[in-house]
Amino acid sequence: MSVSSPCEICAMRSVRHTCTRCGQLVCDRHFDEETGLCVECASDVGRPGDRSPDPGRNPDGVDTYRF
Ligand SMILES: [Zn+2]
Ligand SMILES: [Zn+2]
Repeated sequence: MSVSSPCEICAMRSVRHTCTRCGQLVCDRHFDEETGLCVECASDVGRPGDRSPDPGRNPDGVDTYRF
């Protein structure tokens, strides 16, 4: 019954979420749990500062250093 489809955005991971707006199947990485939308809809709705579709980039620094 349940066929494991790839993410419609990256087409690499197994689908775990369905966008409540456009209905496309996306993986965990391309789903915004806060809004229940895929990253495309989330950026379309308006989330300033988070519109990077490239999963390879991680703006958040791992290192924690203080002044
Ligand atoms: Zn994906
Ligand atoms: Zn969507």
